[in-house]
Amino acid sequence: MTEEFDVNGFHCIYAKCNSKVSTVRLVVDAGSSQELPYEEGISHLIEHLTFKRTMHKSPSKLNFTLDQLGKSNGYTTYDRTVYYINCLSHDIFASLDVLLEMVFCQNILEDEFCKEKNVICQESKSRINDPMSMFLTEVDVFTTATTGHDILGKMECLENLNIADVKEHIQKWYVQKNMRIIIVSDLSINMIHSTVDICTKMWQNIWPIRNTDVPVKVIHDDLFVQKERNIFHNSSQSMIAMIFPTVSYEDSKQMNFVDDVFTCALREMLYNRLRVDLGICYAISAITSYYLHDGRIIIHTSLDRSNATLCITEILKCIEEMSTTELSSEVFDASIRKNIFDVYETLQTADWISSAILERKISPPDSYPSLETMLKMFPKITKANVKDFANIVIKDGYQLIKMNIG
Ligand SMILES: [Zn+2]
Repeated sequence: MTEEFDVNGFHCIYAKCNSKVSTVRLVVDAGSSQELPYEEGISHLIEHLTFKRTMHKSPSKLNFTLDQLGKSNGYTTYDRTVYYINCLSHDIFASLDVLLEMVFCQNILEDEFCKEKNVICQESKSRINDPMSMFLTEVDVFTTATTGHDILGKMECLENLNIADVKEHIQKWYVQKNMRIIIVSDLSINMIHSTVDICTKMWQNIWPIRNTDVPVKVIHDDLFVQKERNIFHNSSQSMIAMIFPTVSYEDSKQMNFVDDVFTCALREMLYNRLRVDLGICYAISAITSYYLHDGRIIIHTSLDRSNATLCITEILKCIEEMSTTELSSEVFDASIRKNIFDVYETLQTADWISSAILERKISPPDSYPSLETMLKMFPKITKANVKDFANIVIKDGYQLIKMNIG
């Protein structure tokens, strides 16, 4: 159901969705991993500035244009910056049009530039004041940021950045060879193809779309070097996160995505053990995540600091049990069903399908798993597969992140 094509130098991914609401995403394959030491935070700053004004639209005009199309927003990750609009299918052209204008015709004014840096300082402060959000950011930085730095960047770096730095960064990374257009819609592939063709060609005539080469991206492969990290926060809240390296995306696909089923079963077991039986934590989360081609399972929970050691021991015991004893039919069946439900739920909206294409399994994507394919894969998994997978999880040890503990 996902089709890919190249048009006027842009790579485009299209997926069909039977919803009246479509989504158009413009993905720039550059995020905080591509920042130089003095630039920390520049990608996220550019994301903010992109929504400010263009050469053709004042802030109020741009805002009005975006508001009447539907829902628009942007976000920055370690390896990309994404701009999107969820709109009615007849507004796909207008949406792509304004997104291209925003990224190719930015107009940055000095006073707005300074104000936006202040906005980001406030964003940073509000996160530092929130223990949960600070902890999860640290977990994220620790596990996925190859450069080991946060998307918001260092406030002292941000303070020193000027408009020339921003323009240079845009010229370097905001080039069509480094971008992808993702459209999820009920319109046919032919309609989408001609929409993208006309719209990108039009912009090439109005404004020189940057057709330069993309700089070589530096990938730091020093992941999993640090085994333990202690974070201190002024709040009394204590948290732990355990990160287990697992298998590559390709291996996961070979195994019918057993990692998703394993994680689902593990979450169920941990909830029963830690909350119901022992009563030592309120909620516990276990998720599978991918960065580049490496998969991992991240478990995190908030708890009283005196229970941290017991909690870690019990989590390890749980995985060990899963590696020696097959799951009960009840938990196994529920985990398969839950994963099938998740896929069907994702297939409901254009917005979810487009983020599944981008985020679900691989980053940066070089192949897009079809959700329908996943539906056929889960029922092939057996209890023995889950048990074997638990052995993979436990074999290489884990990383531990603690907040306000020890
Ligand atoms: Zn922001």
